[in-house]
Amino acid sequence: MDEFIFATNNQNKVREIEKIFQNVRIVSLAEAGIDVDVEETGSTFEENALIKAREIFKLTRRPTLSDDSGLMVDALGGRPGIYSARYAGVHGDSAANNKKLLGEMENVQNRKAHFVSAVAFVCEGEELVVTGRTEGEILREECGDAGFGFDPLFYSYDLRKSFGCATMDEKNSVSHRARAFNKMKELLKEKNIIS
Ligand code: IMP
Repeated sequence: MDEFIFATNNQNKVREIEKIFQNVRIVSLAEAGIDVDVEETGSTFEENALIKAREIFKLTRRPTLSDDSGLMVDALGGRPGIYSARYAGVHGDSAANNKKLLGEMENVQNRKAHFVSAVAFVCEGEELVVTGRTEGEILREECGDAGFGFDPLFYSYDLRKSFGCATMDEKNSVSHRARAFNKMKELLKEKNIIS
């Protein structure tokens, strides 16, 4: 079985991706015994995904997948974008991020938003990057507690419910990350990197 390192410490993402790459063993950073926090210094999702995959490949010399993702809100000019994880200041504080988003959107009528995911793959002699997105709206209050991050505030047009109220399979059928990883899976097949 093929084995890819997935450059993340987010177990939610690992579970999402394992369901997509059923014939590939996905090894998280923790499982690989790697304890690094790669600094995301890029100015786009694609750059950040590549920075992470390159760095982990350099350390492990094993084929590596990575993703960089975020929420882009139309009325906020695309914010929080690449800064989604640290929108409210502290990296990964979802409760604070959601509270800040509700505050910024309090009197806003246009609630359209989309999630973006860039997925990179790096192995010896190959570097690939693709993106996926999913459309929806920012709710006026949290709905559901499934998923992570902004999920309870994101009403998905495809699912007609919030990601917080969706099962993992439902979210995986339409999510930005699933779309990007599925594109990557097809590209890796075309290039005969996986079967
Ligand atoms: P990353 O881990 O650097 O890609 O940061 C992604 C940040 O964007 C997360 O901390 C969340 O705030 C947000 N985000 C990305 N994807 C999702 C998702 O599927 N659901 C909810 N929030 C997400």
